[in-house]
Amino acid sequence: MSKIIDLRSDTVTEPTEKMREAMFKATVGDDVYEDDPTIKELEKYAATMVGKEAAIFVPSGTFGNQLAIFTHCKRGDEVILGEDCHIVAHEVGAAAVIAGVQLRALETKRGKMDVSKVTSIIRSEQEDIHFPGTSLICLENAYSNGSVVDLEYMKSIYNIAEKRNLKVHLDGARLFNAATYLQVDAKDIVKYCDSVMFCLSKGLCSPIGSILAGSKEFIEKARKKRKLMGGGLRQGGFLAAAGLISLKEMTGRLSEDHHNARYLASRLEEISGITVDKDNLDINMVFFKIENCNKSSNELCDAFLSKGIKTNPPEAGKMRFVTHYWVNKEDIDYVVNVMKELI
Ligand SMILES: *Cc1c(COP(=O)(O)O)cnc(C)c1O
Repeated sequence: MSKIIDLRSDTVTEPTEKMREAMFKATVGDDVYEDDPTIKELEKYAATMVGKEAAIFVPSGTFGNQLAIFTHCKRGDEVILGEDCHIVAHEVGAAAVIAGVQLRALETKRGKMDVSKVTSIIRSEQEDIHFPGTSLICLENAYSNGSVVDLEYMKSIYNIAEKRNLKVHLDGARLFNAATYLQVDAKDIVKYCDSVMFCLSKGLCSPIGSILAGSKEFIEKARKKRKLMGGGLRQGGFLAAAGLISLKEMTGRLSEDHHNARYLASRLEEISGITVDKDNLDINMVFFKIENCNKSSNELCDAFLSKGIKTNPPEAGKMRFVTHYWVNKEDIDYVVNVMKELI
């Protein structure tokens, strides 16, 4: 088995040949002195692409989300967000450690909180000596469960926030997947938030890096806090060179990954005992359950690996397969055939 088919995530995507060449030849400088022209070019291009005044390169999506919270809020502030969003579920409690905020996590349905519930729990510290002040709402689109949130919902949350003088941060790790699904420009999503983070390193194939974008004033503040967090990168232009290719050439092809995910889902349904979560099939992720499998999840992952397929064990009873640049239709057919033998 020469080729490994890695379905664990789109974070596994290695840079393309073109990215490797661009990185090799990149013009660089010390970005802490704001001397790296390639980083500057990426930040400018990224800001324009999402319709914000400014942007800053950060090492990871988690870093970008936490930097946003740290920049928008003061210690003890309250942040409203979905209970199963990435910031709550997969960022190691960082918001408590770095920004020192309290997370007010609400139940979600297909990635959406109840709008009237959000409105009713906003608190003002002036109102009562006991109250923390709510200063931020965090949205996520595409949502980690594989669904895309509609613009009407984002707009209603943004309007509430504006009225109550709160900021909205969008965790858009897969912003361009959401835009692809909604068939809109990324700007049409980002207009309903004050700041947005999106990853270059997932389906867009860059080796490392994410962008945080917002107003000029916000990004200036964030630049200082990024330094505090140890994210002042020196010759970061090597990474930005790949990032520019991500934004210019890789966003337009995400529909292929979405198409492949739907193809994978339909083929998985051929296998008895597999139930695909068809309600959350908007982007490049397929969630499914395997009933009556005679193998433990570890045995199953090992069996896949022996056939050249990398998978994660199920989380909360569900398997997740992710399609990306390095997985094609033939690979999917191979995976389905292996599964028919194994399950
Ligand atoms: C992957 C992801 C992140 C974090 O990105 P890392 O680069 O892995 O830190 C944040 N939010 C969502 C929704 C993600 O899927």
